[in-house]
Amino acid sequence: MLRHYLEVKAAHPDAILMYRMGDFFELFFDDAVRAAPILEVALTARQKGTDNEAPMCGVPHHAVEGYIGKLLAAGLRVVICDQVEDPKEAKGLVRREVTRIVTPGTVSDPALLEGKEENLLAAVVWRGEEGAGALLEVSTGHFGVRRWGSPEQAADELEILRPRELLQVSDSLPAALTAWVERRAVCLTPFDGDRLLDLRRAAESLERHFGVATLRGFGLGEGEPAVLAAAAALAYVQDTQKSELAHVRTLLVEVRDEGLVLDPTTLANLEIFRTLREGAKRGTLLSVLDRTVTAPGGRLLKAWLRRPLRRPEAIEERLDAVAELVADAPRRERLRGLLAEVADGERLLARAVLGTLPPREAAALRDSLARVPELLAALAPPWSSRPEPEQGTDAPLSSRPEPEERSDGGEAEGSPLRSSRPGGPSASLGATSGLLCAIAAVDPLADLAAELARVLTESPSASVQDGDVIAPGVDPDLDLCRSLAQGSKQHILSLEAAERTRTGIPTLKIRYNKVFGYYLEVSHAHQGKVPPDYIRKQTLVNAERYVTPEIKELEEKILSAEERQLALEQRHYSALLGAIAREGERLSRLAEALAQLDVLAALAEVAARGRWVRPEIGPPGAPIRVREGRHPVVEAASREAFVPNDAELDAESAQIVLLTGPNMGGKSTYLRQVALLVLLAQLGSFVPAEAATIGVVDRIFSRVGASDDLARGESTFMVEMIETANILHQATDQSLVILDEVGRGTATFDGLSLAWAIVEHLHETKRPKTLFATHYHELTELAALLPRVVNRKMAVKEWQDRIVFLRRVVPGSADKSYGLQVARLAGLPASVIGRAGEILANLEAEEYDFAGRPRRARGKAVPAVAEAQMTLFTPPEQVVADILRGTDVDQLTPVAALNLLASLRSRLR
Ligand code: ADP
Ligand code: MG
Repeated sequence: MLRHYLEVKAAHPDAILMYRMGDFFELFFDDAVRAAPILEVALTARQKGTDNEAPMCGVPHHAVEGYIGKLLAAGLRVVICDQVEDPKEAKGLVRREVTRIVTPGTVSDPALLEGKEENLLAAVVWRGEEGAGALLEVSTGHFGVRRWGSPEQAADELEILRPRELLQVSDSLPAALTAWVERRAVCLTPFDGDRLLDLRRAAESLERHFGVATLRGFGLGEGEPAVLAAAAALAYVQDTQKSELAHVRTLLVEVRDEGLVLDPTTLANLEIFRTLREGAKRGTLLSVLDRTVTAPGGRLLKAWLRRPLRRPEAIEERLDAVAELVADAPRRERLRGLLAEVADGERLLARAVLGTLPPREAAALRDSLARVPELLAALAPPWSSRPEPEQGTDAPLSSRPEPEERSDGGEAEGSPLRSSRPGGPSASLGATSGLLCAIAAVDPLADLAAELARVLTESPSASVQDGDVIAPGVDPDLDLCRSLAQGSKQHILSLEAAERTRTGIPTLKIRYNKVFGYYLEVSHAHQGKVPPDYIRKQTLVNAERYVTPEIKELEEKILSAEERQLALEQRHYSALLGAIAREGERLSRLAEALAQLDVLAALAEVAARGRWVRPEIGPPGAPIRVREGRHPVVEAASREAFVPNDAELDAESAQIVLLTGPNMGGKSTYLRQVALLVLLAQLGSFVPAEAATIGVVDRIFSRVGASDDLARGESTFMVEMIETANILHQATDQSLVILDEVGRGTATFDGLSLAWAIVEHLHETKRPKTLFATHYHELTELAALLPRVVNRKMAVKEWQDRIVFLRRVVPGSADKSYGLQVARLAGLPASVIGRAGEILANLEAEEYDFAGRPRRARGKAVPAVAEAQMTLFTPPEQVVADILRGTDVDQLTPVAALNLLASLRSRLR
């Protein structure tokens, strides 16, 4: 046994080997040591106390799925070596073979998947400065490639997509990628396919799989790394799944510039999928938006959120659909109710292709398909569908609700949609959204639905092995076998009755056991009447058991009928899976249409419940104007009434908004709110506001100053500056930049100077729309210097040395930072607050110099500023002149000079 174990292990050195022994799957050696804590089972030892002692642990075989899940979640690959013959029949050692290889990125078993989560495998190729990644989801057949111009770009995209396994196709990966793999504890699998040694063969394998003559149709050039990545991903999954993966039918080349680009830091800061503090789902934009009722809808919503749209027409298309569903609550309700009963078509299809779809789920597919016609009919606009009979067919025409904004007269009135299905109703839908029309026109797969209904029993058993899967009438042969098998009881009873009559033994019985099969039992009392043709088999305490040729013949028939029945059921079921798989393309189109409908209906539901409005979409770079906007998540979570706020960003006049105000004033909330509204609008969603006009943006950048960045404990000023540098390089005049307390991570004057220079740069070079929240109120002077910078502040009310936050954004700049008042609110002892007040007064009376040191402590090394005798009554010009005279320009750093200049200027005001 051990020898075999070691052989198998040698073939899979990097995976955890689970080896079947009796009722357990056992793990040995390093595997056991590594896995025991993950599986939460005790680590024991085999042959304890001997020289051959080896660490070991085990799990019961019937619960193995759950344990596999734990190992996968820990980023490990699992090899299952199971018994492949019945231990009772085995001579000597039971034969075992590797029956499954399960890896985190190739899972398709729903028990190991989250319905609303994608489960991706990424194959990465890197060559010099550029790379490519192929992303394959086995459980749905989605397959795409991306090209990367830098390792950072690759790491960013992987961080957003979060594949669970990374297939390393090239010999080495750039440091940024290996760092990412480690940080996210992703399963890293080296790919050593001899089949892919050169690109031409890689291209050929893809061409063969997709049945195309060239990959150019997919937008792939010859010899590019993406081809190799895609071929490797496909080959790897085909190997581990031992399947041709017929459900992977197309390869999507993702073009980065098509959508609104969001980098991982921005997604994190805006709390789209996870909260900053806990990484929780609650409190995210996703949690507010996700009213989807199907798993594919949930997955699609996430994909939309990761990459919202940029083309105004595409956005309007979704908005039209959402608007239509918002306007008609009963229809929306009905659609969502029907959708909720539809199974996960994409994943069912994949399992049919892999041959692992159990009969019960095939029945779920049947029942789902049966709902589709009703669902598509419900998509029909209310004014063109006939009222439901139970609602009274004689409802007068005039009582039908009129559509909003219909401009094409009553053309649709006379053409009830249902009668026009399924021939493509778009013509008669006229005024309804194009997207909903396209969904309504999707092929409902009536033929497959009928086939499933014909072939499957009403509620098939869990496994084909249990029979009762194929409906009566499908195959006369099967029906005969079944009646033979099922009728066997009747046969036995009549034979029993006949034998009783023939022998005159009233207690004679026909029975069955595993050893003899069917036999006759006669008690000792009647032994005298046993006829000569009975063959004695066994003597019990008070009875004898016999067989006859006749009973053996019957037995033969019954057992073979059963066997034959199961074989036939298996055959028909396999054929059915084949039929499902053959319709893969149509089925996935239907699944995708329903997923879209689910997301659109969910967005409509959120909009209707939250009283959101349809945004007006402007061309790229056009102004962003929001009236009475709300933060969708804070509003939903807070117990106090949320205070709405306006926003205005305009390339010409208000390109940069400097937002000042006390801590806790609501600055961060406001910044994120504006970014979220833009994101929502470009997603095709309504927005929480009274009105909004959104000029589309190409990217949203959101950076939070290091000291405010809750996402990363290890975050440093360095990171903050690197990220800011990125923004300065990448932002365009169509971008939206959100800077929250950037520059705070360093000493005051450094930070202020940097912030100052950053604003100038954004103003002068790329001119992205920018919201900059800062506690450096000195920065607000920029508004006077730069034409496109405006000041806004969070309004507060002061009352007896205390402040009340109004959460209102108003023009102007905060004249002080209110730090002490906030500290008082926070409960700092009164004595501390009092003393801080004294110090502050000193500071404000200029007792400190530009380097932040008390003037009295100023030494020789400090660039000198004349100790001018300044009083309240000295004219400012003179003060400025005195300071200038006393300044040693040679010793002044650029930063100090900038600050000096700002301060002089403010004195002259
Ligand atoms: P700042 O960034 O100015 O320190 P925050 O944006 O973090 O302030 O907001 C502080 C608190 O005020 C948060 O708990 C938030 O829930 C609440 N808040 C912010 N804006 C509003 C608003 N417009 N209406 C109601 N509550 C708000
Ligand atoms: Mg803040």
